[in-house]
Amino acid sequence: MHCPFCHETDTKVIDSRLVADGGQVRRRRECQECRERFTTFEIAELLMPKVIKQDGTREPFNEQKLRNGLQRALEKRPVSVEDIESSLENVRHYLQALGEREVKSLVIGERVMEELRNLDEVAYVRFASVYRSFQDLSEFQQEINRLQENTEE
Ligand SMILES: [Zn+2]
Repeated sequence: MHCPFCHETDTKVIDSRLVADGGQVRRRRECQECRERFTTFEIAELLMPKVIKQDGTREPFNEQKLRNGLQRALEKRPVSVEDIESSLENVRHYLQALGEREVKSLVIGERVMEELRNLDEVAYVRFASVYRSFQDLSEFQQEINRLQENTEE
């Protein structure tokens, strides 16, 4: 892997360990040229089902969107990044285990709410009713953004 600092092609792994319940490998690397250190995360790429939105259109499963949504819901709550990653891993595993080529966004949303409830009761209660009235992850995200802005005022 190339060094993100000086773009040297030769970087060395100096530490490697499993994180997120073994779902990820975290590696510390050191550039052999500028000696800067950086971290990489490795995740197995498995085929995810397409998401059927409320309006019937399909879109690829977007894990980053889901991660952003969870992080926003849990902002200023005592929940670690590691626990959020474990929850995302649970959602991924659930969707892969379904073995379907397409899954309704509603199904994903309900599973995400279940994870949120396990992570933090307050965040769950705060957002469950909001989400249930939308039943679409992108709208849910927008509502979280809106609530967040109101809180900051
Ligand atoms: Zn370098």
